[in-house]
Amino acid sequence: MEQELLKIASDALKKAALNEDAKSFVLQNDKLFKTLKKAANRYIGGETIDEAVLTIKKFNENGFVVTTDFMGESIRNEKEAIEATNEFLSFAKVVTSEKLNSSISLDLSHIGLLVSRDLTITNLKLICDEANKSNQEVIISMEGTDRTDMIIDIYQEVLKTHSNLGITLQAYLHRTKTDFENLIKLSGSIRIVKGAYDTPKGLSIPRGNELDEIYLNYAEQLLATNHKCAIASHDSKIHSKTLELIDKYSPTNYVLERLLGICNEDLQTYKDRGYKCRMYVVYGKEWYLYLCNRWAEYPLNLFRGLADIVE
Ligand SMILES: Cc1cc2nc3c(=O)[nH]c(=O)nc-3n(C[C@H](O)[C@H](O)[C@H](O)COP(=O)(O)OP(=O)(O)OC[C@H]3O[C@@H](n4cnc5c(N)ncnc54)[C@H](O)[C@@H]3O)c2cc1C
Repeated sequence: MEQELLKIASDALKKAALNEDAKSFVLQNDKLFKTLKKAANRYIGGETIDEAVLTIKKFNENGFVVTTDFMGESIRNEKEAIEATNEFLSFAKVVTSEKLNSSISLDLSHIGLLVSRDLTITNLKLICDEANKSNQEVIISMEGTDRTDMIIDIYQEVLKTHSNLGITLQAYLHRTKTDFENLIKLSGSIRIVKGAYDTPKGLSIPRGNELDEIYLNYAEQLLATNHKCAIASHDSKIHSKTLELIDKYSPTNYVLERLLGICNEDLQTYKDRGYKCRMYVVYGKEWYLYLCNRWAEYPLNLFRGLADIVE
């Protein structure tokens, strides 16, 4: 019964995230906007670059490496893809001028994937060039299964000329076995995640022990070969086992990574014990969609949101 209710809540939140009427209602209703923003604040580093910089500085001073994402995805016209690219370029410049320790994370569909391959490659190269001025990495997020081939193709193309590029792979996809075997041969960093998107039947492994074992197997291959990697999960079981693997292989090129606002207490503990930890900070004005997604993936977070709102 509990599981059923959580599933209902999750499905409703996914619908709310995509519902344009609900979104514009929230944006136009000052009281509702301010109320929901209180709940969103836990998950976002701010709405602007200046606010994000303050958040990043706080984490850097506390010993965390950061990766930063300007929220947005699924842009369908060239003008907006270029605007998003310019925002990432401005962010990369600020990282250099403020001497921040932050890489960039981005969705390719934010900078042109749904417009054209050429535009995406041009935009990605511009961002990699700017980021490279202060040795920042650019890490590509992985999106829905209809985009996996395009994302891997563009990653491989740009990696030929830009070595400061990394990619995210989703352990829950059956195809990842082959993708992983191919991509671990390249120098780019690999972030391994379980996978967040609904997939067509038969393409993915559901949450459970089998997926955890597969995930940890990828993590072990990355750590044992000291491949540059991020072990990204909110699952404390996964991260505890990862700590054992790190102790076993003593790699130097890894980070344990979590999203800002989700189970960050554990990450603080790992960092205090001397493990390398990275906080994934998002910023921007598209926080409504982001908040709904964080609630949808783990509906018990709604209670946390309620507490944040009344606090
Ligand atoms: C840094 C980072 C980058 C990511 N990038 C991508 C990407 O590019 N593409 C992609 O598809 N997915 C991405 N994800 C999401 C990822 O695929 C998973 O959906 C997400 O991490 C939840 O899976 P899990 O490993 O935490 O374990 P799960 O099996 O989903 O959860 C295990 C346990 O972790 C805890 N937990 C999980 N999620 C939450 C939550 N939201 N709030 C509170 N507790 C929670 C709960 O205790 C839960 O029982 C990213 C995740 C991280 C941390």
